[in-house]
Amino acid sequence: MTRYSAFAIVREALRGNAGWPRALPDAAPRQRYRVIVVGAGGHGLATAYYLARNHGIADVAVLEKGWLGGGNTGRNTTIIRSNYLRDPSAAVYEKSRSLYETLSQEINFNVMFSPRGVLMLAQTHHEARAFQRTARANALQGIKTEYVAPFRAQELCPILNVRGPRYPVLGGLWQPRGGTARHDAVAWGYARACAAMGVDIVQNCAVTGIRRAGGKVVGVDTAKGPIDCDKLCIVVAGHSGQLAEMAGFRLPVESVALQALVSEPVKPLMDIVVMANTVHGYLSQSDKGEMVIGGGADGFNNFTQRGSFHHIEETVRALCETFPVISRLKMLRQWGGVVDMTGDRSPIISKTPVEGVFINCGWGTGGFKAIPGSGWATAEMVANGAPGHLAGPFGLDRFREGRMIDESVAAAVAH
Ligand SMILES: Cc1cc2nc3c(=O)[nH]c(=O)nc-3n(C[C@H](O)[C@H](O)[C@H](O)COP(=O)(O)OP(=O)(O)OC[C@H]3O[C@@H](n4cnc5c(N)ncnc54)[C@H](O)[C@@H]3O)c2cc1C
Repeated sequence: MTRYSAFAIVREALRGNAGWPRALPDAAPRQRYRVIVVGAGGHGLATAYYLARNHGIADVAVLEKGWLGGGNTGRNTTIIRSNYLRDPSAAVYEKSRSLYETLSQEINFNVMFSPRGVLMLAQTHHEARAFQRTARANALQGIKTEYVAPFRAQELCPILNVRGPRYPVLGGLWQPRGGTARHDAVAWGYARACAAMGVDIVQNCAVTGIRRAGGKVVGVDTAKGPIDCDKLCIVVAGHSGQLAEMAGFRLPVESVALQALVSEPVKPLMDIVVMANTVHGYLSQSDKGEMVIGGGADGFNNFTQRGSFHHIEETVRALCETFPVISRLKMLRQWGGVVDMTGDRSPIISKTPVEGVFINCGWGTGGFKAIPGSGWATAEMVANGAPGHLAGPFGLDRFREGRMIDESVAAAVAH
């Protein structure tokens, strides 16, 4: 795999960019692998990457029914933060955020990590108290956040209307090293880094069945024929329920569509990410100048990977009081992804009732930020056959034992 470098850019500039090799080999699946990962979203690819990098297991295939990053990884609004309340969440999200800091250098692909800062607005007294509590928890967890006053929120984001008549800004939870990254680049970067270590990334290869013998996984049926494996890791976000059914167990996960939209590109308006949970919307500005806008998930289960008209109106209307400039913007496009929600709004990184089958899902509306840390923790579990300290608390058994990791406040609309 050719490494990208400043030298390569100059060389190709001089020869009309005619010498770039294919970015990713077009792998055909082999008969057998030590590990098969289902799903070439960020979490699946990061799992494969850390299996090879941290554990020396490169006899891995990542099977994707569509195209690389074509699921939620390529559809999200790219917000990265780690200001969660509970210790297990803070540990995995902060591991992830810190890996993002140097990811571009590590995988030789510019993921455009931009730690521009994330501000979560408190617009009710209840929210103000909850965020003050989170700021204190974060201090104990070693995560740098602070609770800021309205005038500081205004300073950080001048287009904010902090004196709204219905929802004035009472303060905010500010994480200065939170931010954004380029979603496609995260998928492509991990995929290239995987391929460079000998992992096969197979696109257009839907898994249609999971074969077991004596309670243990032995392989999968796919659109490209049967493939044998010793271990199987299911990482398919909104389609987790379907894959679990193929393996013969049920998951406490619901699939719903989550939508987002962008405006026409405009001159620089804001250089941080702002989330307004109470009014149910959030906003950032992309490098191209588009305002990236997100809202809540659909209130009913569905597998619709597209936007709906009423959603634009609801989300934009909600944000108009807090960001009055929005009322003058034209909206350019909208889309949707199928997210996988658990009851406590925390992920599942777990062994399953089938020996050799592992699962990573339940990231719901907020898993982009978690890709590196989740891949790290999942790879550790698959390699060792048991979860390590990062994945441990997120096992499926927590639902049976009532050991919930309640992150409803941190997750809410705030992706
Ligand atoms: C509109 C929107 C906004 C969001 N905003 C944010 C945000 O700002 N910040 C944040 O942290 N998170 C955000 N998220 C959530 C985030 O995108 C997801 O949690 C994350 O991308 C999940 O990654 P994944 O790799 O688990 O799943 P995916 O990227 O969905 O990948 C799963 C893959 O599995 C494949 N697959 C499914 N079934 C099969 C099969 N049978 N065989 C083979 N392959 C299969 C799919 O095609 C897909 O490519 C948002 C999500 C959406 C939809």
